[in-house]
Amino acid sequence: MTGPKHSCGVVGIKADFDIASAMHTALMIIQHRGQESAGITAYNDGSMETVKGNGLVETAIPKEDLVKLRGKVGVGHVRYSAAGQKDVVNTQPLVATSSFGSVAVAHNGDITNSEQLKQKYMKEDGWTFHTKSDSELINKILSKHLSSVGDPVKAIRATMSELDGAYALTILINDRLFGVRDPYAFRPLCIGKIDGGIIVVSESAAIDALRGEFVRDLEPGEICEITKDTYKSDIVKPEHPRAMCMFEWVYFARPDSVIDDRGVYEVRKRIGEVLARECPADADLVMPIPDSGRAHAIGYAIQMGLPYEEGFMKNRFAGRTFILPEQSQREFAVSTKMIPIGRTVKDKRIVIVDDSIVRGTTLKKLVAMLRKAGAKEVHVRVGSPPIIAPCYYGVDMTTRDQFIANHYSVEEIREILGADSIGYISLDGMVEAFGFKKEDLCLACTNAIYPTRIEGEECRRD
Ligand code: AMP
Repeated sequence: MTGPKHSCGVVGIKADFDIASAMHTALMIIQHRGQESAGITAYNDGSMETVKGNGLVETAIPKEDLVKLRGKVGVGHVRYSAAGQKDVVNTQPLVATSSFGSVAVAHNGDITNSEQLKQKYMKEDGWTFHTKSDSELINKILSKHLSSVGDPVKAIRATMSELDGAYALTILINDRLFGVRDPYAFRPLCIGKIDGGIIVVSESAAIDALRGEFVRDLEPGEICEITKDTYKSDIVKPEHPRAMCMFEWVYFARPDSVIDDRGVYEVRKRIGEVLARECPADADLVMPIPDSGRAHAIGYAIQMGLPYEEGFMKNRFAGRTFILPEQSQREFAVSTKMIPIGRTVKDKRIVIVDDSIVRGTTLKKLVAMLRKAGAKEVHVRVGSPPIIAPCYYGVDMTTRDQFIANHYSVEEIREILGADSIGYISLDGMVEAFGFKKEDLCLACTNAIYPTRIEGEECRRD
């Protein structure tokens, strides 16, 4: 668990046409899942070709390079890692060649026993690792099993039996394409039909963008082989509940995606409604923190019967502030990324709604800016319970230290943020908004109870 944190996006397409351009489109649509690097691997005529690099999809995979990428089947990846881990060697997909042929792996999630597995294979089999990426480990283990059992599905199943933690994978074994979802279904992965082919991708919005038809989400523990006009599944039903990451719906996924039968936008709106019931505010208007708090704020405003206003203008060309290494950089970046619309906020009692508070950087800065712009009162409402515990399954919140809610009470946080009032949704309220059974969700970042065994942490009993 020492490598880069991967809350990434993956895709795989098999079709009766060259897939590079469709892959590029799909990666652009899941760009929010990873802005550090991007890559596509395609299989053509007995070998694999990869185009990848640092930066946004448009930079990492220039359009002019797409013509070089021939092939009717491929996998792709966008990578999100913490600041300072921009080395190209870790970009995906990662390709390995073994006696069985070529294997390419794109991974979203975090393998919690990767260090133990690496140590074991280094000691017992003399393996060396060239990257910090879990994908390299998965690829090596898979190639080992392929060489011994031959059959790809059996080899993937054997690989899965060694891996703990979160993984949604797209895998290319020569010209055969597979989608794999871990037995806890931490991260999303779904299948869709597109004209002339089939796609397996992290988020359904990519299927819509390709004018395709959503088919279904992968089941927990499913290995799905994708052919150009159908798919075939191997499912070993897990004996434990799911542990779907609540943060996918709260913050990470696109609002227009549907994950495991729940529309992300609808869930966020319902969170806002529940939040309004639990923590009403006497105010003139409701404003979101764009873009992440928008749907939550709409739900809140509707439930409260208050006007909804866009009172912050966000510079859409500004990069992500959350992963900047220094607190001072983060604060400066927030204040230049978001500017209040003076005439909307002046003399108003305002409710601002955001999806989550991690360090508190964003809200502290924005509350101060609203006050400076003349807001009479500022009430903060938050669409998830206090974030208190690290994520070991792929979201970049990895140290207890960084969480403001670990250091201060809710009332102290209100004071630090400079707000007139503060209200977080309750855990049960948030679960109600999801409409899932509580035990099917991973809520570890809010209750410190982990669905799988993590050294030094409390594990839930399945
Ligand atoms: P903070 O300013 O540290 O309280 O961060 C909270 C805001 O950052 C949230 O409102 C989210 O919109 C966003 N955020 C939360 N977690 C992450 C993450 N792991 N990566 C990027 N952005 C995040």
